Amino acid sequence: MTDTAEWERPIPTLDGVSKTYWEAGARGELLFQQCPACGNRQLYPRAMCTACGETPEWVRASGRPARTPPARSGRRPWSCSRASG
Ligand SMILES: [Zn+2]
Repeated sequence: MTDTAEWERPIPTLDGVSKTYWEAGARGELLFQQCPACGNRQLYPRAMCTACGETPEWVRASGRPARTPPARSGRRPWSCSRASG
């Protein structure tokens, strides 16, 4: 175990936006933000929802794997190809 006096990596600065996140992490909890207006989820902490600008709320992660919608056949959210059409 490393003594904290020997810790040489940057220690996060707790500001008004990130303080809740880091304090929960110190307790062993993972929090993320969810927008009460549009449902957008985001991590890392921000003052506003990245989708609509509303003030997000904190939600504790369940620890269960995320359920994602099934991929649509033939379509990808990214492409390595420059070919069009
Ligand atoms: Zn939103």
